[in-house]
Amino acid sequence: SKAAVKVTVTGAAGQIGYALLFRIASGQLLGPDTPVRLSLLEIPPALKAAEGTAMELDDCAFPLLAGIDITDDAKHAFDGVNVALLVGARPRTKGMERGDLLEANGGIFKPQGEAINAGAADDVRVLVVGNPANTNALIARSHAPDVPAERFTAMTRLDHNRALSQVATKLGVSVSEISRMTIWGNHSATQYPDLFRAQVGGRSAAEAVGDDAWLRDTFIPTVAKRGAAIIEARGASSAASAANAAIDHVYDWVHGSDWTSMAVVSDGSYGVPEGLISSFPVRCVDGQWQIIQGLEIDEFSRERIDASVGELAEERDAVRELGLI
Ligand code: NDP
Repeated sequence: SKAAVKVTVTGAAGQIGYALLFRIASGQLLGPDTPVRLSLLEIPPALKAAEGTAMELDDCAFPLLAGIDITDDAKHAFDGVNVALLVGARPRTKGMERGDLLEANGGIFKPQGEAINAGAADDVRVLVVGNPANTNALIARSHAPDVPAERFTAMTRLDHNRALSQVATKLGVSVSEISRMTIWGNHSATQYPDLFRAQVGGRSAAEAVGDDAWLRDTFIPTVAKRGAAIIEARGASSAASAANAAIDHVYDWVHGSDWTSMAVVSDGSYGVPEGLISSFPVRCVDGQWQIIQGLEIDEFSRERIDASVGELAEERDAVRELGLI
């Protein structure tokens, strides 16, 4: 039988962790033939809660779950890791300045990057979920010089899935009829969900919608502010949908995809400065992502992409000034 793959989840005792771990252990992350060993990284006050989750994982008797360890030591958690899901982060709290937020996250993602550099398996793949995800990925990556840069990614798949759902509802079609959806830029309010490149029934989704005001004033803000709407309705932030998107991201990276959205290190494509971790349209082949090339970008989209990428560049400059990268 196949050797177990080590999957490390940080912030494992949090909401997203709770929605994520059972799906990983049941085989939905890596497929029904791949046993997994879970490593749960938490901060000391949350270790006991992580133990509770591990007890429940035991109680599911998942045939693919080869073992669970729980630790507050990043070195241990990332030793031999094949898939690292970095979920735990310092959320912005009321009155917190952006510099404080970035600094607190530097304190988390710098040592995690170092531990990945020191101990990860050669095939390690990293997905950062914890916000600000793109910049947290940049911090981790810059402390892991021996790991190829393309192994550090950040999640925009939830935005992508939200965009699919919104436009499918608008057009009265199934999400499976929509292809080539793209989220560009930062996983933040400036992100750009692009209907001009998305396709439905052989034409662009923007054309199929045929309503520029809806696209600009309803669709884009609805996708970008969906997280806040969920909090408003549910009284808690989205967790199951975020976990689902993390599963989709890694599954497609490993198993292949013709077209999805991932925040990946820029090679300068589409005018995104080299080195920024920005969301692009990607395809995944043989376990590797590639930015889809050769798309023509209209003026409206250009402005939106530039604005979001500009924000990423500002975040990079801020963490650089703080000495975090
Ligand atoms: P969640 O599990 O709900 O969220 C975790 C992170 O995911 C947050 O940064 C959150 O950002 C982010 N996120 C990204 N996309 C989404 C989305 N679409 N919807 C919701 N969240 C999203 O947080 P909890 O507070 O429940 O749990 C966090 C856990 O992390 C705690 O158990 C804490 O102890 C742990 N932690 C562990 C660390 C470590 O292992 N070293 C370090 C820091 C914390 P946002 O806040 O912007 O929504």
